[in-house]
Amino acid sequence: MDSKKLTKDKFGGFIDLLSKQKLYVPQMAGETLRFAPVDSKDEVNLVFSNTAVPPKSVLFPQTETLYEYEAGGTEMIIPEGPEEKVLLGVRPCDARALTIVDKLFSWDIDDPYYLKKREATTIIGLACQEPGINCFCTSVGGGPASTEGLDLLLTDLGEGYLLQPLTEKGEKLCQDAGELLVDAAGEDNQAADKVHQEAAEKIVRNINVDGIPQKLEDLWESPLWKKVSDACLGCGACTFLCPTCHCFDIQDEMEGFEGRRCRVWDSCMFKEYTLHTSGHNPRPTRRERTRNRVNHKYSYFVKNFGTIACVGCGRCINNCPVNIDILDILSQVVKEAL
Ligand code: SF4
Ligand code: SF4
Repeated sequence: MDSKKLTKDKFGGFIDLLSKQKLYVPQMAGETLRFAPVDSKDEVNLVFSNTAVPPKSVLFPQTETLYEYEAGGTEMIIPEGPEEKVLLGVRPCDARALTIVDKLFSWDIDDPYYLKKREATTIIGLACQEPGINCFCTSVGGGPASTEGLDLLLTDLGEGYLLQPLTEKGEKLCQDAGELLVDAAGEDNQAADKVHQEAAEKIVRNINVDGIPQKLEDLWESPLWKKVSDACLGCGACTFLCPTCHCFDIQDEMEGFEGRRCRVWDSCMFKEYTLHTSGHNPRPTRRERTRNRVNHKYSYFVKNFGTIACVGCGRCINNCPVNIDILDILSQVVKEAL
């Protein structure tokens, strides 16, 4: 299907259409911008840089009930299937990140909790126009208008949006929108190309990732890891806010006789993550844990799935309380390995 155009006076009608499913958009929760369900059209504001919490939190919630039970009982009460959802305003890096999380949750076994939600969700992207100071998506295979993982991409042209349908879900949405949309003209597509190119030119940080998996292997015992991890507090912010991080723990919660088994986010930056019952810990210090985080993204995931598990969103850099910077670490890896 060719591109469509939505003028901004029709935007409210488009939101009404999307609201037939459960609609999530970036919204402030306290001081944190994150994806949350829309109660009123007024909550939809597509002027933002990027959410602090990535949209993976909708499909892979921080705490998710797997099933409920009663103490002494044998019945598992599994939550009802996911409702149909639309995520509007997903940045292209975060949509690419979902394709990385998909690989993990459909690897050795299919994870029904994640995959059913993924199937029931339509992802509408919004091309970036003002990349953040620590964005480096263009170094890791993405870009401000990357379409990977999206069903529909919106580009803000000022007086309206250009809509590029990318999948059957995206095409269906455009068909359902009917007269709200018009066919995009050649100059609309050119204007969108210009917006995308200008945004890419505003990205100031970059890294040449060629050969990094091998370089990481060569530097396994390098003193570099102690140096780059000395300041780490082990807070886990870099992993919790990373759109591709997917580690979890399974925990039981009891209230009286009622219990629930839940899946909760976990982090390889926590000491307890690898602590064995015997007391042995194969990653006993921040050195090993930082080395693991970088290797997982730039070496192990490449070996297992053929892709880097970092989309260059910059969140781990923006949110580290002690300014640990994955790009600086990678630059040192490149330099040391020469
Ligand atoms: S490692 Fe950092 S820059 Fe890369 S995707 Fe995760 S949070 Fe973003
Ligand atoms: S955000 Fe910074 S301090 Fe916290 S665990 Fe990550 S690297 Fe360490």
